[in-house]
Amino acid sequence: MMIITRASAMRKKTEEWKQQGCSTGFVPTMGALHGGHLSLMNEARQKNDKVVVSIFVNPLQFGADEDYDTYPKNIEADAETAGMANVDVIFAPPVDELYPRPVRTIVHVEKGVQVLCGRNRPGHFDGVATVVMKLFQIIHPDNAYFGRKDAQQAAVVQNMADDFNLSIDIVTCRTIRETDGLAVSSRNIYLTEKERKQAPQLYKSLLTAEEKVHQGERDVSVLEKVIHNSLVNHTDAEIDYAEVLAYPELETFSSSSGQIILAAAIRFSKARLIDNIIVPLRDTKKGEKQDVPDLDEI
Ligand code: AMP
Repeated sequence: MMIITRASAMRKKTEEWKQQGCSTGFVPTMGALHGGHLSLMNEARQKNDKVVVSIFVNPLQFGADEDYDTYPKNIEADAETAGMANVDVIFAPPVDELYPRPVRTIVHVEKGVQVLCGRNRPGHFDGVATVVMKLFQIIHPDNAYFGRKDAQQAAVVQNMADDFNLSIDIVTCRTIRETDGLAVSSRNIYLTEKERKQAPQLYKSLLTAEEKVHQGERDVSVLEKVIHNSLVNHTDAEIDYAEVLAYPELETFSSSSGQIILAAAIRFSKARLIDNIIVPLRDTKKGEKQDVPDLDEI
């Protein structure tokens, strides 16, 4: 496995692979690699001749009061984790390699950012879209892998790929969880012991709402209240949002079919956690059980 820090060297490597007729799978990350990242790398490994994982904490997507400066970094441990998935290249550029000067051009996301994480993180998804576009331009992957845990991000990237006619397949992979249901996250290390015990309630609150959906509940405000109350009753966390929307449109849910996303974000003392469940719907009368698994189970 190689660690490449320069964009020109990275581009040269993937061009070389292309000339050899090899396909490239790409997994963008911010490092502090864990089981969630590993599952994306394994998926990329299975479907591509070559695999690149990027490790880059992107200043453009962090707000002034967010954890950019304290975001966990450990390149040695990350190399070990990437090695477990037989990754070919870790692309880990320093900040001034991707941003050698103040940015003059950004990718501005028009739709799907007034909700969920976008509402309280202005500019966040512009930052995400910009860095993903830059990484796509350097690496030119055939397939790029994103986690469903960040479902809004996956939708934003898919929209960008469609809107800009990128010839890259965006693959969304299921959320990897600890045994108690907590979604694996680089930020979980910042939870106190008490908060770590309460944190699985985030997923439980979504499961409770999902059960209501399966029972035929389609009233968004009722479902949001179920999530909200479950969090208020069982955690000390501040609730950032508890929201139910059509997915992947991320618009007000108004039909009885398609998919909905049940999503929540909570803030503990030093960590903000997010989670979601995407549920396929079919017409069900209230009270009639809908026996449809959520996408995480598929
Ligand atoms: P991050 O390093 O947090 O920016 O995440 C990099 C990629 O890993 C994103 O596509 C995330 O959605 C994905 N990811 C993070 N946590 C998980 C998880 N628990 N399960 C699956 N994918 C994840």
